[in-house]
Amino acid sequence: MGKEISAWAENVEDSLNGLIMINKELLEILACPVCKGNITEITDKLLCNNCYRAYPVVENIPVMLSEESEILTKEEAEKLLK
Ligand SMILES: [Zn+2]
Repeated sequence: MGKEISAWAENVEDSLNGLIMINKELLEILACPVCKGNITEITDKLLCNNCYRAYPVVENIPVMLSEESEILTKEEAEKLLK
């Protein structure tokens, strides 16, 4: 993680003038900072399809930090991904 995510955040902020929303396009750009897996939006979190880390979304801004994430069990994650 690092450069890519912060560059992405800056771009979004510029183009939306501070109004950051999660949309499909952004989800496609986002990757898990730990394993680079794909991210799926679930209710109020972003879940890595690969390592099952759930990242919080605070005021519409995804917090893609491994230390902020919560690691779900495979069972929990599969339930949410359905
Ligand atoms: Zn992951």
